[in-house]
Amino acid sequence: MTTNTKKAIKISVAVLAVLIFATAVVLSGLAIAQSVKVSEAEKYTVSYDGEKLNVILMIGDGMGFSHVAAATAKYGDLFFATEADYAGDITTFSRNAFGPTDSAAAATALATGCKTDNGQIGQYRGKDLRSTTETALSLGMAAGIIATEGVDGATPAGFSAHTSSRNNLDDILSDQLASGIDLFFGSNAERYDSLKARIEQKYVYADALSEIESAQGKVFAAFDEIATSQGTDETPTLASLAVAALDILSEDEDGFFLMIEESHIDKRSHDNDIDGALEHVKAYDEAIKAVVEYAERIGNTIVIVTADHETGGLQYNGERAEQLSDDMFTKGSHSSANVPFYVFGEIDFDFDQITDNTQIAKLCQAIISAK
Ligand SMILES: [Zn+2]
Repeated sequence: MTTNTKKAIKISVAVLAVLIFATAVVLSGLAIAQSVKVSEAEKYTVSYDGEKLNVILMIGDGMGFSHVAAATAKYGDLFFATEADYAGDITTFSRNAFGPTDSAAAATALATGCKTDNGQIGQYRGKDLRSTTETALSLGMAAGIIATEGVDGATPAGFSAHTSSRNNLDDILSDQLASGIDLFFGSNAERYDSLKARIEQKYVYADALSEIESAQGKVFAAFDEIATSQGTDETPTLASLAVAALDILSEDEDGFFLMIEESHIDKRSHDNDIDGALEHVKAYDEAIKAVVEYAERIGNTIVIVTADHETGGLQYNGERAEQLSDDMFTKGSHSSANVPFYVFGEIDFDFDQITDNTQIAKLCQAIISAK
């Protein structure tokens, strides 16, 4: 990213200035073009004198620091870990008293800026929480959701639905179809093929990349599988899906918000499958590179890369590629380890080196509201 325009945006953040934000941004975000102040304490301010800004939030489900280090040992330097303009850590705990977060509570925190109990999707104890996706749509922006799992998975659902349990798949689909979100791309075509008639009341239903490209109107695409490399029209890579989404969303003059999840780092890590987990970290990295290059081409686009939690308690201790093994996992579930957080884009802010996952939502909402 160029540095000469970096001063155009100055974002100042303090970890404690939290709860006032969601209300304040709703009250003040629409009206102020040049400078948005979202906290009376001036702890969380955005001032901005540029053109509209887009936000792309990318989530590697289950990806901790050891996943990044092990993937680097296997494949060489990863784009996102070496080229980002900012790198830090986030904490991931949920409202549950014991044990790590699940993907539902983590997605809710990343999407809404509020902690919730494990299992809840866009809600805290029965109350709906406003997501970045909804803020974007309310500002007239376009919005999209992409996952390598079905889009009713906990992470994509956290950005597009409100329900008391991640298992309420029918509620999640109902919310998604009524959301106004411009595109949903994911896998699990087997489930969605049986729901095609219902989906087609609101969306063009697609199961090939070429169908996405030729679709008129909002698109709901479900594939059997998302490839980790050498994608095809019917089994595309996450990178090619992201580019197809950006081709659609970047047409909107009011800007866009896009959430992209690599869902399978988590699933392979639950299985303690090191080769599978790292293959998906690599595919995630390739998607990030494609997205950042696209963002640089269109300009005014901030790319945020993070994870929802760590999975598998992976311990990397300097192993070389040939020494990597499934035994480096220490559990079959999520851990409470902090996860990485990277930013690509022309933006200055003073996050502490370690911040909380709720701050990601506040950052995203501050950026898209600062226009
Ligand atoms: Zn998991």
